[in-house]
Amino acid sequence: SKANGRNRYHFFTEQMQLNAERIASLHNQLKQALDQQTFELYYQPIVNATTGLIVRAEVLLRWQHDGQFIPPDEFIPIAENSGLIVDIGRDVRLGAMQTILEMQAHNWPINLSVNVSTFEFWSHELQDAFVDSFAAITEQLEVTDFPYDRLTLEITESLLMKQHTHLIDVLNGLRIKGIKISLDDFGTGYSSLSYLANFPIDQIKIDKSFIDRLDEGKRHEALVEAIVRLSHALDLTVTAEGVETESQLKFVMSNHIQEIQGYLFYKPMPKAAFFALLAKQAEL
Ligand code: C2E
Ligand code: CA
Ligand code: CA
Ligand code: CA
Repeated sequence: SKANGRNRYHFFTEQMQLNAERIASLHNQLKQALDQQTFELYYQPIVNATTGLIVRAEVLLRWQHDGQFIPPDEFIPIAENSGLIVDIGRDVRLGAMQTILEMQAHNWPINLSVNVSTFEFWSHELQDAFVDSFAAITEQLEVTDFPYDRLTLEITESLLMKQHTHLIDVLNGLRIKGIKISLDDFGTGYSSLSYLANFPIDQIKIDKSFIDRLDEGKRHEALVEAIVRLSHALDLTVTAEGVETESQLKFVMSNHIQEIQGYLFYKPMPKAAFFALLAKQAEL
C-alpha cells in the first residue's frame, strides 16, 4: 500500500542518515587516530606449503576505538574516500619496514606483504610521491641500504584497470629496488587473464572466496587449478588465502601452491606474538 511504501521510504532515509553520521564521525576519529598514531599493525604468518615454516606475514591494519576493534573493511573505504589513506598507507609502510629491519637484525629470513590501496595510486602525482616516499622512509629509519627484497606490495586488479603506461613504469621502478609485487584478491574484480602476462608482477594471491568454494565441487576446483597452472607457467608464485580446513589444504598441496595463509595455520596477531613464533622457529 501507499502508506506502507512511505514507511519504507522513511525507514531507508533514517538508515541513510545514520550511515552518513557514522561515516562522518568515523572520518574525524580516523584523522585523530592518524595524528595520535593509535593504529596498530597485526601480522598474519604465511607458511611455505612444503615445509610448513613461516616465510612471510601479511601486515594488517587494526584500529581500536573506544575499546573495540573497527574492522578494516569498514574504515579503509572511509579513509580512501577522504584521501586519508595516503598518509595511513605511508605509516603502514614505515611500520612494516621498521619490522623488516628488526627481523633482519635477528637473522630471521622473513618477508612482509603490505596492502596498497588503489587510491594511493590515484594520479600520476600520487604514484610519483609513492615511489619517492621510500627515500624519505629509509632516511627516517636511518638506513642507507634497505633490504627491499624482504618487502612485497599487494595491489589489486582495480589498479591495473585504471592506468597503463605510467603504472607499468612505476611498478618496474619499485621492482628495480627489489620490491616484489603481488596481485591480491585475484579473480574477484573485473579480472582479465591478460593482467597476468602484461603487468610486471611476481606473485598472485588466490582470494579466500575461491578457496571457500573448493568444497562445493569439481567445477570450482577446475577453476582454481587453471589459475594456478597459468600463474606457474608465467613464473608467478602463488599464495592461497583463507585456508581453513584440511580438505582445502590437501587441494592446495596437490596443486603445488607455494604459500598458504589461513586460520588453519595462523590468525593475524600483534607483533610481540609474531616475534615469539619467529624466535621459536629459529631454534628448530
Ligand atoms: P585482504 O588484503 O584480502 O586481507 C586478507 C583478509 O583475510 C584479512 O582480513 C585476514 O584477516 C583475512 N583472513 C586470512 N585468512 C583467513 C581465514 O582463514 N579465514 C578468514 N575468515 N579470514 C581470513 P582483515 O585483516 O579484516 O582485512 C580486511 C581487508 O582490509 C584486507 O583484505 C585489505 O583489503 C584491507 N586492509 C587491511 N589492512 C590494510 C592496510 O594496511 N592498507 C590497506 N589499503 N588495506 C588494508
Ligand atoms: Ca591483502
Ligand atoms: Ca586478499
Ligand atoms: Ca580480500
